[in-house]
Amino acid sequence: MSINSTSSKNLIRLKNILVIGNGGRENSLAWAIQKNEFVEKVYLMPGNAGSERINKCKSIKIDINNRNEFVEKLNFLKIDLIVIGPEIPLANGLADFLRKKDFKVFGPGKDGAKLEYSKSWAKEFMKEANIPTASFWKISSLEEAKKIIHSSSSPLVVKADGLASGKGVFIPDSKDECFRAVKSILNGKFGNSGNVVVLEEKIKGPEVSVFALCDGERYLLLPTAQDHKRLNENDKGPNTGGMGAYSPAPLLTDDYLNRITQEIIEPTINELKRKNIDYKGVIYFGLMITKSGPKVIEYNCRFGDPECQTIMPLMDQNFVFLLEKCSMGNLTGSEKIDYFDKVSGCVIATSEGYPNDYKIGFPIKIGKIDSNDCQIFDSGTSLSKNGELLTNGGRVLSIVCQEKDFDMVFEKAYKNLKEINFEGIYYRNDIGYQVRKKFLQEN
Ligand code: AMP
Repeated sequence: MSINSTSSKNLIRLKNILVIGNGGRENSLAWAIQKNEFVEKVYLMPGNAGSERINKCKSIKIDINNRNEFVEKLNFLKIDLIVIGPEIPLANGLADFLRKKDFKVFGPGKDGAKLEYSKSWAKEFMKEANIPTASFWKISSLEEAKKIIHSSSSPLVVKADGLASGKGVFIPDSKDECFRAVKSILNGKFGNSGNVVVLEEKIKGPEVSVFALCDGERYLLLPTAQDHKRLNENDKGPNTGGMGAYSPAPLLTDDYLNRITQEIIEPTINELKRKNIDYKGVIYFGLMITKSGPKVIEYNCRFGDPECQTIMPLMDQNFVFLLEKCSMGNLTGSEKIDYFDKVSGCVIATSEGYPNDYKIGFPIKIGKIDSNDCQIFDSGTSLSKNGELLTNGGRVLSIVCQEKDFDMVFEKAYKNLKEINFEGIYYRNDIGYQVRKKFLQEN
């Protein structure tokens, strides 16, 4: 398969797609990809117990470390496009390796993934390109940290530089707490990911997620989203990987999105180009809308979870073509994302105890679920020897619904969620409260 071929016929040859990853994000990507009539098979590597419930999808296990066997298997399966879901393989250069073997890959190389796997590098990147973000200091010793913490007027946000499975950010209430967080990171709480620590000014405002599909030259924005990171209702309790989301985010009017495009998105794409980084994949912009304007909290080099599960059902069957165009550097700038004229909401069901210790292995019972515009995407599930669906993670599954308005979306999501049961099931009842008129009136 050649990555240089550009004819529209080539699009029709998109028969076998590989999605790498094992979460709800990858299941939702596969779900959107299989909608395309030309797609015959979507392989999820390794996927999870929910993957094969999705039309045309099959879970496969290949040892990614045995690179020769991996490539042989991909050739045997006649894979036409590879979509890499999680950040770790991207940070390890999997996209570079596969491109060298002539596969079409949606996902940045190691150089682009640095936007996510080094927070200090991303901060320097923003500084050089004049992209608005909280002010910061990069430190690698306690002495340096002490000076900065003591001279700041308020407690600073503390971040491990490298990947830490979403757990490397601390938001202390006091300078002492701030200092303890730095100490724990430098003492190895996150291994080498904590050799460097970033201290940041604490900024305030609602958070929104913006996603740009990039082909190295051009980009295309997906519908915006907002997620809920805290475990408990009213956005209280510990940070989690995400308890639910909704899309689009009404907070971002067209005018405000234009401002974000001019101040953040285009400068980011231009800076990547200036640095000769051929970014073919999605950039997630985690933004805070502060009084002085939008600021970047973080970049991710992949789709966010659960925003991905929320946005994917809004895509039409051409979505896979867009991924392919990005992988080939072929966006023309005139593409439109044809998403349905509906809004989408997602609620995550977790195991009791998450995000701390939790038990797995409980049977999951799924009753009668709406067949229209309602999806279940498994995040942490497995199958027993008898084929029974079991819990196998902290975040177990998501229910995602689409309707004309957010009141209807969440009414439907919670109604269907009542049909799902496992021991210790927990979910927030107030996901999307900001956009649910009825909920706001009643609470
Ligand atoms: P991150 O992993 O960098 O997105 O951080 C996780 C969460 O910490 C974000 O979603 C914000 O809620 C919060 N956060 C990160 N950086 C800051 C900051 N500079 N000021 C205030 N809150 C922050």
